[in-house]
Amino acid sequence: MVGSDASRSDREIPFGRPLIGSEERQAVLDVLDGPILVHGPRAYEFETAFADYTGAPHAVSVSSCTAAMHLIWFVLGIGRGDEVVVSAQTHVATAHAVEATGAKAVFADSEPRSGNVDPQAVEAAITSRTRGIAVVHYLGEPADMSALRAIADRHGLFLLEDCALAIGTHIDGIHAGLLGDAGCFSFYPVKHMTTAEGGMIVTRDGDLAATLSRRRAFGVDRTVGERAVPGIYDAPALGLNYRMNELQAAIGIAQVAKLEDFLAARQGNYEALAEGLTQVEGTKLVPVSAGATTSSWYCAVLLLDDELAEARYDIVQGLKRRNIGTSTYYPRPVPHLEYYAETYGYTKDQFPIAARFSYQGIALPVGPHLDTDDMAYVADGVARAVQEVKGSL
Ligand SMILES: *Cc1c(COP(=O)(O)O)cnc(C)c1O
Repeated sequence: MVGSDASRSDREIPFGRPLIGSEERQAVLDVLDGPILVHGPRAYEFETAFADYTGAPHAVSVSSCTAAMHLIWFVLGIGRGDEVVVSAQTHVATAHAVEATGAKAVFADSEPRSGNVDPQAVEAAITSRTRGIAVVHYLGEPADMSALRAIADRHGLFLLEDCALAIGTHIDGIHAGLLGDAGCFSFYPVKHMTTAEGGMIVTRDGDLAATLSRRRAFGVDRTVGERAVPGIYDAPALGLNYRMNELQAAIGIAQVAKLEDFLAARQGNYEALAEGLTQVEGTKLVPVSAGATTSSWYCAVLLLDDELAEARYDIVQGLKRRNIGTSTYYPRPVPHLEYYAETYGYTKDQFPIAARFSYQGIALPVGPHLDTDDMAYVADGVARAVQEVKGSL
């Protein structure tokens, strides 16, 4: 079974790997050589660079995407008795950020094409207690923002976009994060670019950006640089410590400069892989958009038909034997995770469309750490791994 030529390849295909070069290394050393580790010019420079890249009027750096989402609900004053409608098919962080305020995350199922939230399911989940909608661009494929914007406006709700996988995602030429009221990005190592840990909020609302800036730093009224008399400040509002430090920001500045190349490599890899996988019976790739409305090419999710899905772990093992790393986006719909299932009594038969992506999908790598030869190897590996399990079904 493991005797084929492809299995003996010494190729290594990790699902994701941060690409840190000499620019990032030097930028970090420069910070360490200076006196300022937090509250310095790099965080501001990184915000400006990210705002330029996305076309955002305002960008606020934070310590993670989870911090970004929590900070937004926190400054909006959402809490006990309030509800936020959340995509069922997303990272647990999208829902946790709501629950951490004391408010309740109420889930909406996916639509079957892309796995993105179904706007009709969002509307059906709205009650008199709903204060916001948190939508993810699943795998970086744009959600239906025009429908969601209309629903949010009709009900007077804050519309948050979880853009953790959506750097490079555009909707009619507008970058993701700028169609809702705020967009939250992640710079965790396997995302499109990294600062080790880190996040960014983009918004068109200058007042919101100013509020977020203050309240990510204890809610104090003056930053260190703004204090006329050292050590003198007041705290007009509650705040947290969700700042990004200068080491992270220095890495971020160097990474933003490489984003166009990273994205082009992802798209090229995705297209090569899709081409190579057309012949594998019982499988299909979750489709992605290209053009003015475009995916961010985060990964390629192979959906297995009902029969093949029973052997999903064996296929994943077959890929692992060939040194092909895979992942699952996301392992379960959020309401199927223990905290939500126990707290709210959700059952496994709820959110069936989101469930299909969790339980029948295998996420294949297309990151810029790989090239099109690697993609040919992955496509061949998938075909062989599927063939191996077909005999036992
Ligand atoms: C990775 C991810 C997050 C979490 O981002 P952090 O920066 O690690 O907090 C949130 N939402 C989605 C959709 C993600 O994929």
